[in-house]
Amino acid sequence: MSTLLITHPCFVDHDTGPGHPERADRMRAIDKVLSHDVFKDLIREEAPLRDDVEEEISRAHGGTYLEKIRTIATGPINGTRHIDADTVISPGSWEAALRAVGAGLEGVDAVMSGRAANAFCQVRPPGHHAESNRAMGFCLFSNAAISGLYARVKHGAERVAVVDFDVHHGNGTQDIFWSDKDLFYGSTHQMPLFPGTGAQGEMGVGNIFNAPLRAGDAGERFREAFESRILPALHNFGPDLIVISAGFDAHQADPLANLELVEADFMWVTETVADMANRHCHGRVVSMLEGGYDLTALARSVAVHVKTLMDVGA
Ligand SMILES: [Zn+2]
Repeated sequence: MSTLLITHPCFVDHDTGPGHPERADRMRAIDKVLSHDVFKDLIREEAPLRDDVEEEISRAHGGTYLEKIRTIATGPINGTRHIDADTVISPGSWEAALRAVGAGLEGVDAVMSGRAANAFCQVRPPGHHAESNRAMGFCLFSNAAISGLYARVKHGAERVAVVDFDVHHGNGTQDIFWSDKDLFYGSTHQMPLFPGTGAQGEMGVGNIFNAPLRAGDAGERFREAFESRILPALHNFGPDLIVISAGFDAHQADPLANLELVEADFMWVTETVADMANRHCHGRVVSMLEGGYDLTALARSVAVHVKTLMDVGA
């Protein structure tokens, strides 16, 4: 079996305006590195615009949220429109956001059916800050949470885990998973930092596992936090699928945060999560891109992450 890479050219059309860190060049940098020969055995698919995408979004985002975003995103926009200080919508955002969700759904279909060993979704906008009823932190829809809910409803996965190593806490995923004991959320993140959530005491119904790190912490502290707080809980949970919120902004070169991770740490965490997936769920991993804002560090880190997925899935 192989690793599936899901992306789409329209992800560069989500325009966040000049000077915004979550920018189209992130996709171009990753495209370039993944065009190398090392990655020739990836199965490559375009992120689809699926008929069921709005239904699946509605499982995570209740009430009128989807309509609110649709109204803004498909209405007249002259350039860009800010939903809040960080979160921006442009004329290309609606299609990008729907295809970002669609990539996750497609990745779940592929790994749950055994068509691929695992999958990496190279998408934007990212998702883990989007709460049930609130867009924030560059995120419109909670891509990883939606994928997890979909795997339960459509593929009979009883327990789904999201493991999040983005440097920011995934308040959106936590919010959506908060009161469901069959959904697991485990996160390492810098604290204090945006969005302000992610304390160890935030435990949901015993299904949320936060491992905050301090500014300046490097790989050793990261691995220790992962091994002591996330992995034992994940092992006890016994997932049928693991979704990774793969943010690479904990890299030492990242301009938005102050952890000191390097590529080897991203390799370690990918291997470690994949090992847990091998033990519990036939290696099923769907990884979704979240943050990472230094283009060189992002491209190198994604390369290591995807290569590791290929090696463990071979
Ligand atoms: Zn982040």
